[in-house]
Amino acid sequence: MGGIRFTNMMKNYGLFINNEWVKSDKEEQESVVNPANEMEIATIQKGGVGDTRAAIDAAREAFDKGEWPKLSPASRAEFILRLSRYVEEDIIKFGETELANTGKPVKQVVDYDVAYTIDNLRFFAGAARLIDGVAAKEYVTDGTSILRREPVGVVAAITPWNYPLMMIAWRAIPAIAAGNTVVVKPASYTPMTTLELAKAVKDAGIPKGVFNVVTGPGKTVGEELARNDKVDMIAFTGSNEVGKRISGIASATVKRLSLELGGKAPFIVFEDADLDAATEGAVVGAFVNNGQDCSAATRIYVQEGIYDKFKALYIEKIRKIRVGSPTDPKTDLGPLISTDHLKRVRSYIELGKKEGEVLYEGNNDDFRSGYFTRPVVFGTENNRARIVQEEIFGPVPVMLKFNTYAEAIEKANDVVYGLGSSVWTRDVRTAMMAAKDLRFGTVWINDHVPIPSEMPWSPMKRSGFGASTSKYSLEEFTTLKHVYVDLTGAARKSWYYQVYGEK
Ligand code: NDP
Repeated sequence: MGGIRFTNMMKNYGLFINNEWVKSDKEEQESVVNPANEMEIATIQKGGVGDTRAAIDAAREAFDKGEWPKLSPASRAEFILRLSRYVEEDIIKFGETELANTGKPVKQVVDYDVAYTIDNLRFFAGAARLIDGVAAKEYVTDGTSILRREPVGVVAAITPWNYPLMMIAWRAIPAIAAGNTVVVKPASYTPMTTLELAKAVKDAGIPKGVFNVVTGPGKTVGEELARNDKVDMIAFTGSNEVGKRISGIASATVKRLSLELGGKAPFIVFEDADLDAATEGAVVGAFVNNGQDCSAATRIYVQEGIYDKFKALYIEKIRKIRVGSPTDPKTDLGPLISTDHLKRVRSYIELGKKEGEVLYEGNNDDFRSGYFTRPVVFGTENNRARIVQEEIFGPVPVMLKFNTYAEAIEKANDVVYGLGSSVWTRDVRTAMMAAKDLRFGTVWINDHVPIPSEMPWSPMKRSGFGASTSKYSLEEFTTLKHVYVDLTGAARKSWYYQVYGEK
């Protein structure tokens, strides 16, 4: 971890199509900026429709005529394990690149983002070997039914800026592990680790056309992926607004969709909870990745009898959060991703001052450059306030009170999103009741955030549909095929008379 620093070498990336680095049609480029110091750190190609089509054609050819879908699961697993070893050997490079491109603190990029990505890669390599068709049975006496699981085809993976490398591990790697080929469109703010991974794809010997990357504006590259008839599936992680737009476009060609959209996680603390543990968890839950996390605990519901005590302890802990240079091993929070996003978060902070009461506000006077902002905590009694209902995606949690179990669940469920949620209690019955009653794809009991590679990250409600991580995500990237085998050998089967002739 100590070896990590800002790389001061400027990088110039091409598009990655058919395992070759190419310039975009129009040879236009875009800058990539370090959000901690606003310096240009790379140029990428501003891909257009022609470039996107070239990548789709490469993926199509590799799927329809190439060896990849036909390889044994063990062979595909070996390629992906090799890829994981390249990332592991180059962990400093991946860490430095992610750090410079996102402003995440060094301890997060190395010990979480890159380490977890490696674990995801290893998991998918192994899990893809377990994808099975079921040798079923005779559901009608004359024939045997067999189920096969087949890859879907060409998958477009469109990813967000908050976990750039990890989202490739969630959206593109299970796709190729299951035998599909992919075109990846990374977020324009944070394309660098995706492009570094493409280098490792080539080094690992993954055949050409299996993993392609097109950088460029979402409106151009992303929409062409959603529109193009040669793409079979879109795996999208990002905002609800763009998710809806993609669904609309993709419906014209009836594409399979997996959408992982926004979140607004409740964090429910009952009177019997361990207060020290709950306040530690609320700091980590709310400020994970600077609040730029779809699972961030942004709605902190605390039972009335312990509200004041919880608030005092929570704010005492928030005061200790260290905001600063991402390269400093002691830094807890770096900058937000961009100047536009900083403006958006600030506008929610102004809104919060009208809708609620400021319980804590960090002082931002010492930041000279970079998109930094310190935590702000609001309190409100209005569950319908916009700061309670809308995704702010910054270090801005809101505290609310509740009286009874029923009120806590009703308030927590009263939101359009359904990704993560957590419950803090020592009572097993309360915990298990809440696990049943909360309408969120994940319920953590006495913790918030962990998503083991083996478990699904599965959205409910308007947070989307389709699991990421786990064997269930591999199912998303495969389709069922029924094979029926006649056992009678008869020219006229027993049921043919229903269509013509006599019994
Ligand atoms: P966006 O929806 O703005 O962008 C996501 C991706 O879509 C980017 O690659 C973007 O490209 C692309 N895109 C933008 N416009 C279009 C379009 N019209 N058609 C096709 N693609 C397009 O999300 P953010 O990057 O801002 O990410 C933050 C969001 O992601 C939050 O809402 C967050 O909750 C969600 N998220 C959800 C997760 C989950 O597991 N459910 C996990 C992580 C994040 P470009 O960058 O070029 O604009």
